[in-house]
Amino acid sequence: KQAGTADLGQVVADIAAEMAARTDRGEVATYIPQLARVDPARFGLCVTTRDGTVHTGGDADVPFSIQSISKVFTLTIALGLVGDALWRKVGREPSGDPFNSIVQLEHEHGKPRNPFINAGAIAVTDAILAGHQPRETLGEILRFMRHLADDETISIDEDVARSEKATGFRNAALANFMRAHGVVENPVEHTLGVYFHHCAIAMTCRQLAMASRFLAFGGRDPASGHSIVSAERARRINALMLTCGHYDGSGDFAFRVGLPGKSGVGGGIIAVVPNVASIAVWSPGLDKVGNSRLGTIALERLARAMGWSIFGS
Ligand code: GLN
Repeated sequence: KQAGTADLGQVVADIAAEMAARTDRGEVATYIPQLARVDPARFGLCVTTRDGTVHTGGDADVPFSIQSISKVFTLTIALGLVGDALWRKVGREPSGDPFNSIVQLEHEHGKPRNPFINAGAIAVTDAILAGHQPRETLGEILRFMRHLADDETISIDEDVARSEKATGFRNAALANFMRAHGVVENPVEHTLGVYFHHCAIAMTCRQLAMASRFLAFGGRDPASGHSIVSAERARRINALMLTCGHYDGSGDFAFRVGLPGKSGVGGGIIAVVPNVASIAVWSPGLDKVGNSRLGTIALERLARAMGWSIFGS
């Protein structure tokens, strides 16, 4: 079959079957017991297309910790609240450093290089808080996720949130350093509390693929008619996912998959094919950079089989 004419449902089923049989999964995140306990053999995949068709494979309806994937959605909320003023607090360049790196903050007066490394996401969370109570802000983030996914059951895993807080010394260091430079403006424990909780949202591949539709389809869901952001804003968020969505593995992800995407240490990845599809994949084993190993391979297969790339057909 020619690239682009393959049967998407069959491709999704084949990839899920292949990935479920593989054992070269990489290591599950171990910095908190709640993530270390997850069954590494889990694999889920979900793809939605323009007309609203949903294709699922494997454990597409099993919830997992979305972790840093939440940063895409908090960025969307923050841009809605403060617009381009956000870029005074956070940059738009890939970091080339690990996701929790602190070194470059010192050189740039506490301004994180991009919204997807931890420091940048903490600064974005701080912009959303803006004097509100953490509970209200968290409620707003959760409502946004439920609205996007059209699913009221999405919730926060409180055990994960508690453990993130109990072990988050490095994130606390980042937040305090940014507070010293005035980039973080709320009480540090408020900002960190909201950050730890939005990382602890649990979602399925199906819910994440649904929630990502606005990024794939010019800021709106063409099937439901829901408008979320302008087409320009969706393009810009996609650009940031392409350049920064996989930390210092972003170049490799663009090379291998060729689509904007965002990973989390729970093993999830969302990716978008502009005007064509939104995708979510989950395999808990991670590569050295902290991105899902089989998740990336699955996206590589999917993109190749369907002829999907933002760099040409
Ligand atoms: N909660 C994690 C942290 O702050 C998120 C990191 C990630 O998913 N890359 O360390």
